[in-house]
Amino acid sequence: MRLKDYLKFNNISNKEFSSKIGISPVSLSRYINGDRLPEKNILNKIYQATEKLVNANDFYIDNINSDKLSDNQKDKVNEIYKKLSSGEKKYLAKAITLVESSLKSHQLESNYLLSKIKENHKSLRIGITGVPGVGKSTFIEAFGMKLINLGFKVSVLAVDPSSKRTGGSILGDKTRMMKLSVNDRAFIRPSPSQGHLGGVAKKTSDSILCLEQAGFNIIFVETMGVGQAETSVYDMVDIFIVLLLPSGGDELQGIKKGIIEMADLIIVNKADGNLKDSAHLTMQEYKNAQSLISKSRKDLLPEVLSCSSIEEVGLDEIWVFIERFINKCKKNKSFFETRKTQKVNAIWRNLNTKIADHIDNDIKLKIFTKKIIKDVENGKLDVNNAVKLIFSNI
Ligand code: GDP
Repeated sequence: MRLKDYLKFNNISNKEFSSKIGISPVSLSRYINGDRLPEKNILNKIYQATEKLVNANDFYIDNINSDKLSDNQKDKVNEIYKKLSSGEKKYLAKAITLVESSLKSHQLESNYLLSKIKENHKSLRIGITGVPGVGKSTFIEAFGMKLINLGFKVSVLAVDPSSKRTGGSILGDKTRMMKLSVNDRAFIRPSPSQGHLGGVAKKTSDSILCLEQAGFNIIFVETMGVGQAETSVYDMVDIFIVLLLPSGGDELQGIKKGIIEMADLIIVNKADGNLKDSAHLTMQEYKNAQSLISKSRKDLLPEVLSCSSIEEVGLDEIWVFIERFINKCKKNKSFFETRKTQKVNAIWRNLNTKIADHIDNDIKLKIFTKKIIKDVENGKLDVNNAVKLIFSNI
């Protein structure tokens, strides 16, 4: 840990610490700013005085300078923050571009931006999953417009790490949600196109914070219902909705059983025309399925409803259920507890991603690692000891 961070977290002044280890405050600031490296005996004193949390490695100049924002960068982020907070969509887009960027300088700016954003318990984060073709975008378009008419500001994010979609998908999503995409009170953002799930999930969680800061109080997070992304989405929303097609069990529909068990609300879509009867039958089947009942989170029974997104039938009942569900969760405090747990889970998820990135971008490229790998290839070293060696040098 850097000395600067240690002192900040523990609320210790430079003066206090310098006198504790017997040096002048000026010398201490030189070490902290990276202008000078401490001598061995001073390093040892610092190590002992910081509960062994600050060691020699923490004084590398690179390490110190690499996460400093320039004044220009600070000004830029302060402007984004100000305009984002007043709801300017152009700056919201800039903020999200920043949190999605993999560039190191952008990540620094994004961390600074996110540190300014306060928690917001007024927003509602809704996860929506279902196989391609079930009608997710049609549903979000119809339901979202209804919520806008009720006075909400609606946004749509997607988590789809398998997607090879690029900038073109913005067009794709806009044609999928035509009314929402041109509405002043709506904001649609496609899935960040690259990276593994952990990275995409982090970007989405950070984007949610930006959207909330810009005053969007309904946030849909859409996913495909077929992969691992559902668990991540479940872990960033207040209510998780699974959309189903009329007829056929979930296996037939290509939805994994575990995903149905996570649902707070199941909606059978396309309950219209000659699909109406089979939609009601499917709804009954799911209502009768005992296995669902015991598995809902927050000790609330999951509901099974049907709707027609095209004919806009059944949407009112869906909103009534969601409101009731959220009110109950707020009343019994589970809403806040869940958000708290989700934040803690995000620490480990983000840390995993950071470590994976660190391994790919740094550890794998080190000469030391390459030598170890050669030794493993040539049979001079076994895998377990290779891992141990690399790990001890991280
Ligand atoms: P997504 O892939 O889950 O986003 O599905 P889409 O929203 O793109 O819808 C897939 C197809 O189903 C489109 O042709 C829609 O017009 C159709 N669809 C969506 N909702 C309904 C509905 O409520 N009733 C009927 N009959 N068709 C629907």
